[in-house]
Amino acid sequence: MQKNVISNLKEKEKILLILDLDETLIHATETKLEINYDFQYAQYYIYKRPNLIEFLIEMNQYFELAVWSSADDKYVNDIVKLIKPPEIKFEFVWARSRCTPRRNYELDRYVHEKRLKKIKKQGFRLEKSLIVDDSPEKTRDNFGNAIYIMPFKGNQSDNELNLLSEFLKTIKDSENVRRIEKRGWRNRI
Ligand SMILES: [Mg+2]
Repeated sequence: MQKNVISNLKEKEKILLILDLDETLIHATETKLEINYDFQYAQYYIYKRPNLIEFLIEMNQYFELAVWSSADDKYVNDIVKLIKPPEIKFEFVWARSRCTPRRNYELDRYVHEKRLKKIKKQGFRLEKSLIVDDSPEKTRDNFGNAIYIMPFKGNQSDNELNLLSEFLKTIKDSENVRRIEKRGWRNRI
């Protein structure tokens, strides 16, 4: 019993790395691209971001991993099962039902926001949580925790996950990620 408590505490000391799905880890499109797709799902052709599997396996050594997408719940759960290396266990896989819709009057539509305070109930601390997203408007309430990356649209020379992994390794032991400047992270690799 005592041993479990200690190992749970230790687990929680790793930083939680929450990853967006679409345009961050994969690109899904109904229009086939010139390159080979990785697999099909419903009406979508799915393209994995270059180095996706290596990235997940490497990051799994240093972080607790999770996925949070604003897409439909079934789609997200199914796609994650299809791309996940078997040795990885995500802390959670969250989708639209965990997002908070906010009316954007300029765009005249709802933006499904990811509000990080929701993870506190799961026992995670904001000081030890990062969220990676290509859509700043979806994580605008999480300024101190967010790392913004370039969207992936199928470009096979995309190197974003390698760059991101280099940056993340420099901050993996931080006691408070909110104190780290994350804008312009590419310049600090
Ligand atoms: Mg995205």
